[in-house]
Amino acid sequence: QKDVVVITGASSGLGMAAAKELASTGDWLVVLAVRSFSKAEKALREANLNPKNYRILPLDLASLTSVRQFSESLKTMLAKEKLDLNAIVCNAATWHPKDKKPRYTADGFEEHVGTNHLGHFLLAHLLADDLRKSARTGLAPRLVFLGTETHNPDSIAGKVPPQADLGRLAGLEKGLCGENAMIDGKKFEPTKAYKDSKVCNAITMKQMSDRYGPRGVVVSAMFPGCVASSGLFREKRGWFNSFFPWFQKNITKQYVSVEEAGHRLAAVVANPLYSTTGAYWKWNSLKLGDGTMDPVGTNIAISQQARDEELANRLYELSCEMVGIS
Ligand code: NDP
Repeated sequence: QKDVVVITGASSGLGMAAAKELASTGDWLVVLAVRSFSKAEKALREANLNPKNYRILPLDLASLTSVRQFSESLKTMLAKEKLDLNAIVCNAATWHPKDKKPRYTADGFEEHVGTNHLGHFLLAHLLADDLRKSARTGLAPRLVFLGTETHNPDSIAGKVPPQADLGRLAGLEKGLCGENAMIDGKKFEPTKAYKDSKVCNAITMKQMSDRYGPRGVVVSAMFPGCVASSGLFREKRGWFNSFFPWFQKNITKQYVSVEEAGHRLAAVVANPLYSTTGAYWKWNSLKLGDGTMDPVGTNIAISQQARDEELANRLYELSCEMVGIS
């Protein structure tokens, strides 16, 4: 029997690369949870993968109704095919760096946090018990969040303004919309909203690790490296998309290809090395040698703000209220 992994936003980027790698082993049934069926299907067909090793299910994380429908469709599929859910990867993300005004999800929340955090928050909670019940032997079930260095103002990348900062959650307390579209309640800034959403992902990882880790689920996050040529930067200006990969390759030496980032993500899903719950994996650049990246991820600390327990507990409570779970 195959192990089942759900990967959100696997229609492009490193989610797609990880989906291809896991599906090609024949040991995994990969469920691509995507908003564009045709885009995912075309890429999989071109990769010549055996259709027995993947499924494509619709999921729009910017709609809590869609998240609930996805969860129901997945459970029905698993029951019908007598399969267990073994891994979930919260990979999808949206980033609109040039926006002057906030966009909103179907439920009226600012879109970066509404999609990247609240959509995944609900999805992870709707499916966590299925992970827990997985009868898989050998490798514990896994819940993986995608993180970014820029969530941490103490890191070099994270120092570049605008820095992530959830403040005391004043905007979230007031509904994450209108004048309060930013979590900290301050003026709307799209890149900060994206980084803030990634702080929320890091906090959710720790909170869910505390709750589900003792029940056998490995909950972790990973920073895949700077995947400077992925579609995430699609809305940046032309010069940026030429300069940024060069800068990351030659100056910071943090550049990774989409394929290498997908390989790292597949490892966090399937390799026993990454069985530590609550871990945040990062691959270091070996600058002293030939500049190649460390082949193995290291467990590093999440940002200081994400480790603030009072803030994390309040974010968790508010997120539960906003997505309608107790
Ligand atoms: P991509 O833009 O290529 O992938 C993001 C995916 O998310 C796309 O497939 C997109 O779908 C999907 N998506 C966006 N909005 C929604 C939605 N509402 N519902 C469902 N799916 C949605 O970027 P990457 O592969 O680079 O990013 C993947 C993850 O890696 C993200 O979480 C990102 O934050 C993280 N990351 C990336 C880094 C990088 O340097 N690129 C560095 C650190 C972390 P569609 O195909 O329909 O647009």
